[in-house]
Amino acid sequence: MPTENALPQRLTPVLEARFGLDGGAMFGIIPQPLWSRTNPPDDNNRIDMACRCLLLEYPDRNVLIDTGIGTKWSDKERSIYKIDDQDPGMTDSLEARQLEPADIDDVILTHLHFDHVGGASRVDEQGDIVATFPDARHWVQDRNWSWAMNPSERDAGSYRKEDYSFFESNPDAPPLKLIDGISEILPGVEVLPLHGHTFGMQAVKITTDEHTFIYLADLIPTTSHLRAPYVMGYDLQPLETVEEKKEMLYHADRNDWILFFEHDPKQAFARLDFDDDTPRAVPVNPDEISAIG
Ligand SMILES: [Zn+2]
Repeated sequence: MPTENALPQRLTPVLEARFGLDGGAMFGIIPQPLWSRTNPPDDNNRIDMACRCLLLEYPDRNVLIDTGIGTKWSDKERSIYKIDDQDPGMTDSLEARQLEPADIDDVILTHLHFDHVGGASRVDEQGDIVATFPDARHWVQDRNWSWAMNPSERDAGSYRKEDYSFFESNPDAPPLKLIDGISEILPGVEVLPLHGHTFGMQAVKITTDEHTFIYLADLIPTTSHLRAPYVMGYDLQPLETVEEKKEMLYHADRNDWILFFEHDPKQAFARLDFDDDTPRAVPVNPDEISAIG
């Protein structure tokens, strides 16, 4: 049976790490009494965040969307960002699917912020930074790559060049594939560029034999960010995010897309519903959808 045009057969959320970010920064202009009901802050005002990647299994290839926060962190940084990478982590999650990092054929990076690309590399026994997925093509929007190599002073803290500069500096690095705009990079996998959060981020639309899923990345990082004004303080163009979010939810509603939340502390998949005009996430029972692993 030919498999080259087959769609992804199985989608498995991979909880790479948990971490914490400032609740005020995560909710922009929204007052704390509103967001703290759903996302209670700790003593340092940090809210719980997941780094949730998505594994797509084809009959003949394995694809990973985003790589999480990774392991290249000092104790001080771990404490600032409350990084907990033990639960259950990338390696164990792949092992549960009988896979190793070398079995990943493609890594789609939504953008190069540290909590999305940090896990694409690690420090080896010699102290060198090497690719975690040595045989994978790594896909990123050309515009995000250019921005990440030269970010503004305001967002330079979100881009750690050690996370991605090895693609240029290390001759053994796996291939970096720069994408220009909307593209179907594999059967059933289409990337959609967005520029409100940062320049050249990409959401990923995944079509299986039965459903369409949308990996929202930082357009809508958690289920608490569905409403238009709930925009992160980190965003470079917040008004653009508002428009992109409304357009995304319009298409999701019309076409019954299943939403995937990368940073929600509890929920990976949800369906979109509305109370009057207010969007809300209805949890999806993974057992009801055969493609969810
Ligand atoms: Zn980001």
